[in-house]
Amino acid sequence: MTQGAQGAEKSAALHSALRAWYEHARRDLPWRRGHDPYAIWLSEVMLQQTRVETVIPYYNRFLQEFPTVMALAEAPLDRVLEHWSGLGYYRRARMLHEGARVIAARGVFPKEVAELRQVPGIGPYTAGAVASIAFGQRAALVDGNVARVLARLFALDHDIRGGAGLARVWKLAEALVAEDDPGAWNQALMELGSTVCTVRDPRCLLCPVASLCEAKARGVEKHLPILSPKPRPRGVREVALVASSGDAVLLARRCPNGLFGGLWEPPLLEMETDLEEARQAAVVLASAFGVELTSIEDRGTITHTLSHRRMRVEVMWGQTESLGELRCGLSIYDKAERVPWTELSGRGRSSLASKILGALPRQTGYSRGPSVS
Ligand code: SF4
Repeated sequence: MTQGAQGAEKSAALHSALRAWYEHARRDLPWRRGHDPYAIWLSEVMLQQTRVETVIPYYNRFLQEFPTVMALAEAPLDRVLEHWSGLGYYRRARMLHEGARVIAARGVFPKEVAELRQVPGIGPYTAGAVASIAFGQRAALVDGNVARVLARLFALDHDIRGGAGLARVWKLAEALVAEDDPGAWNQALMELGSTVCTVRDPRCLLCPVASLCEAKARGVEKHLPILSPKPRPRGVREVALVASSGDAVLLARRCPNGLFGGLWEPPLLEMETDLEEARQAAVVLASAFGVELTSIEDRGTITHTLSHRRMRVEVMWGQTESLGELRCGLSIYDKAERVPWTELSGRGRSSLASKILGALPRQTGYSRGPSVS
């Protein structure tokens, strides 16, 4: 048999086994219950970097609040971020919002991969997902799950994190994508990666395509895929100032395009600290916002890890007589406001901001106020 005929035979066998398995093994997930391109796009954006179980309640609440692409486009960014609070990677929410505005202005949801790629925030993976799942277009996709499954099925011995290895994975995905219901094929590959062909311990005994898997045949499934190491997150020390007066607290909003863009938080300052320096930094922070502190209390250190930085934040709780005449004197922020404790839940904020506020004593308005993520 020629190599081409062998490839076609393997592809047909993969399709038949994987599609049959997916029919009965697929999880019932909310975004799999329809073909609304907006809902599918939303789920794909939320699922990047976030686990399915975490995403489900956010996805349901978000769709309740913004049921259509038009509703999302018309909403202020602050409200969108508020509904993203706690989900992390806030750039996704900002790009989703910007993309919704572009689609709403066009008046029609794009169907083809090339058109979808014109929308801000839609990359090759999301374009493939929306085109194939919502519109039944014969479009491939590669996410971490698909890359791992294909690297094992075809025993790829290149680094698949980028460059030639990733290009090879895309080529395979494009060659394999089904004519008939490509969306179901793509989802079957992702489902296999997420439930059976998992990162550390592939469950080959339960795998519907084990007899077709080259990595399994060679006994190298736990050694594949080859991935170059990610850079280690940089350690950063910061001071946070929670300045409060009576029933309100000072919050500052991050500038739109940087870290935590558009989110509200007690102001932070990056620096090397010991306890004395942290107190001084709190005073510097207060004066940058036009606040005079009457007392400062150290509320301990919290840690927060992002993909690129590991933060240790000294939380300083400052009392002031007034939060009346605020200014915004730090370049990472574009706005500062006095926010009543009871209105905190209406402000989009990062889980870092929630951790900082959570370091306050129980008797503060934050602890008594409505629960926030
Ligand atoms: S046989 Fe094992 S390594 Fe191969 S695709 Fe299935 S789960 Fe993954």
